[in-house]
Amino acid sequence: MMETVKLNQGSEMPLEGFGVFQIPDAAQCEQVTYEAIQTGYRLIDTAAAYMNEEAVGKAVARAIADGITTRDELFITTKVWVQDMKTEETAYAAVKASLQKLGMEYADLILLHQPMGDYFAAYRGIEKAYRDGLTKAIGVANFYPGNLTNLCENVEIIPAVNQVELHPFFTQQAAIDNMKAYGIVPQAWGPLAEGKHGIFTDPVLTEIGKKYGKTAAQVALKWNAQRGVSIIPKSVHVERMQQNIDIWDFALTDDEMAQIAAKDLGHSEIVDHDSPAFVKMVCGMKVHE
Ligand code: NAP
Repeated sequence: MMETVKLNQGSEMPLEGFGVFQIPDAAQCEQVTYEAIQTGYRLIDTAAAYMNEEAVGKAVARAIADGITTRDELFITTKVWVQDMKTEETAYAAVKASLQKLGMEYADLILLHQPMGDYFAAYRGIEKAYRDGLTKAIGVANFYPGNLTNLCENVEIIPAVNQVELHPFFTQQAAIDNMKAYGIVPQAWGPLAEGKHGIFTDPVLTEIGKKYGKTAAQVALKWNAQRGVSIIPKSVHVERMQQNIDIWDFALTDDEMAQIAAKDLGHSEIVDHDSPAFVKMVCGMKVHE
């Protein structure tokens, strides 16, 4: 049985979901999101910056019309992009624009996508969206321990979730401990390391998997889930979607958990959030007029 987690703002979130980053083709995104819901995923993670909120909305509407699920059972996350993190009003307007694209009256989780722009003003914008019932929960993404602590010490509503890069090659256990101290659920983006480091054929993950009849991918996902981290793997292949969600019938031993954690490189090999070039690129990236 898929586990759920109670968020500090009151709602319940499935511990595993389906991510739709890098599926820019609308027809494909609609189809794979529909297939993911058919497969059993109930949490869908999109963002204004993924340019596919309309496709996600269509897939959800189709799945509901076909009787596969209901809006109540689903947990829809989207994110406010940096372009809209200028004032409280621009962030609030971005939430409304996302809901319009999704064709939904409310989201289940709205995240600030990056700790950039005027993120305090933007956070007040999503706090207002939460109070106005436009979303059941609010949170942040890519907030590293310093930013997250500063935010938590200065806002009225503590984020429910912080979505950061978390996988066996970048474990960030201290950051997770800091999130947990604030009652924030850590959520892993790139839980499969975006396929890097030979994760799918990694000898430690593969060997552990043999014992349970699971793949290296399944072991990597389970390892995060078992340490209380929500996971949102992405795949455009149905058999992989099925594989990635079939992780709720086994448990890793403490020794196996430690062996996997020992693979930590201590840094990301996907993105460097401290790089001026990256920050400049993000600050200049427009997702709408
Ligand atoms: P990921 O889920 O770690 O990895 C996805 C890659 O792994 C794809 O190339 C996929 O290929 C492949 N794959 C998936 N399952 C597999 C399996 N069982 N066996 C072999 N290959 C498999 O990376 P991600 O998409 O970057 O992260 C997941 C989600 O996190 C995103 O979709 C997005 O929703 C979110 N995210 C958020 C941020 C942020 O800044 N907040 C950043 C990145 C991602 P195929 O699709 O070809 O199967």
